[in-house]
Amino acid sequence: MIVGERKPFEEIKDSVQGHKKLLILGCGTCVSVCMAGGEKEVELLASQLRMANKLDNKDVEIGEATIQRQCDKEYIEPILEMARGYDAILSMACGAGVQMMADLVEPIPAIPALNTRFIGVAEGEGRWSEKCRACGNCVLGEYGGICPIARCPKSILNGPCGGSQGGKCETDPNRDCAWALICERLVRQDKVDNIIKITPPKDFRSQDFPATQVNEDYVKAEMEEVHSQ
Ligand code: SF4
Ligand code: SF4
Repeated sequence: MIVGERKPFEEIKDSVQGHKKLLILGCGTCVSVCMAGGEKEVELLASQLRMANKLDNKDVEIGEATIQRQCDKEYIEPILEMARGYDAILSMACGAGVQMMADLVEPIPAIPALNTRFIGVAEGEGRWSEKCRACGNCVLGEYGGICPIARCPKSILNGPCGGSQGGKCETDPNRDCAWALICERLVRQDKVDNIIKITPPKDFRSQDFPATQVNEDYVKAEMEEVHSQ
């Protein structure tokens, strides 16, 4: 999932200055799960902005909506006409969702209310951690399912570095050394050879960006369906 966190309220307030009709738009998938940009967070931010505007004697109409995904046109289209009735969209989606909204509502601005942090997992109640940097050439199979790129602050492929102490990372004693975890798991999996071998530098050319992906079979099937009608 994409993990995000809400920007400080003052920053949000400044970013919507001057707009008289504002739609706060939540996203019901990743940022909803990480409690940053779902329906409840839309409600809370709308109340805070209404209160701040009242105190500042500002007359701003604030609308609220949450759709399943802001990174997918299919979910935006049903609310597009309604969204175009506002003079700005304050999006509580990740950066991808904000950009999709910005493209679809142009020239109406889509303004981000969140900071997009990382691709990660839920570790427990209210805790998430980064697990992947979307490098475009996954090597998890070699490292016991623990990513040395995302989970080691030095992203080293041949570790651990000299600073690992008692299973903790030298950059932060509260953080597990990713390489200690990798080594322990590979031993348990009877794959110590993976630790001993020297891995060449990663070819980051596969991390092309801006990246795109096309499922040719899907596109072909869609085209065939259109032509058969
Ligand atoms: S190796 Fe690359 S794709 Fe795989 S988890 Fe790590 S960063 Fe993500
Ligand atoms: S101590 Fe471990 S996790 Fe920290 S930088 Fe060194 S190898 Fe990476």
